[in-house]
Amino acid sequence: MVNLVIFGAPGSGKGTYASRLKEKLGVEVIATGDIFREIVKEDTPLGRKVKEYMEKGLLVPDTITLEVLKQSFAKIPKGKGFILDGYPRTMEQAKALDEITRIDAVIHLIVPDWIIIERLSSRRICKNCGAIYNLLYLKPKNDMICDKCSGKLYQRSDDTPEVIKKRIEVYEKQSQPLLQYYKERKVPFVEVKCEKLDVPPEVMVEEIFDGLKKLKLA
Ligand code: ADP
Ligand code: ZN
Repeated sequence: MVNLVIFGAPGSGKGTYASRLKEKLGVEVIATGDIFREIVKEDTPLGRKVKEYMEKGLLVPDTITLEVLKQSFAKIPKGKGFILDGYPRTMEQAKALDEITRIDAVIHLIVPDWIIIERLSSRRICKNCGAIYNLLYLKPKNDMICDKCSGKLYQRSDDTPEVIKKRIEVYEKQSQPLLQYYKERKVPFVEVKCEKLDVPPEVMVEEIFDGLKKLKLA
């Protein structure tokens, strides 16, 4: 059983790699961004509140986020490990997580800003199954249709130039300091660098997997 955090800027590939590692490691993935997008779809007071933050590229308040996290943990079968994608993003969230569970390693994705901006602006997502595509280098076989389930592809409303800029800013200011937090607590790191736009996800996933093997976590 392995408990992991996958950490990196918006567009660094957290979701893409986490969904592939899920199969390889036999773990659950908790992606707070995906959960929030589901909450926003339901037009409730909570959904409307979450939407206000997301569409500006700001973090949803910690109290809401923590509640969502706890509910997700409650659904993980006993004895099964997990990958957290998009959590923690603030110091408060990291501390709260430490009270709930132990983290075996942090997978840190290091990706330059120019790649992030390129990727996010051409990212498309399946409305039906959530599969992630990219019009530049991870193209669907048929235009705007999901390879896996034939669902329609859409562009996330926060993948626009202004909101992307804000999300990167928020990451650098509020989330990046968490790397120091985990280093101080001697949590092992698997660091992978992506320096080209067209590195296939499989290559990155293999690199992450090797890093986990070295730590005897895979
Ligand atoms: P990305 O990493 O590409 O920005 P996510 O899908 O992880 O995309 O997150 C989308 C949005 O959801 C964030 O910009 C933020 O508004 C909200 N969100 C997701 N996870 C958290 C979190 N742990 N704390 C606060 N807000 C979050
Ligand atoms: Zn699909």
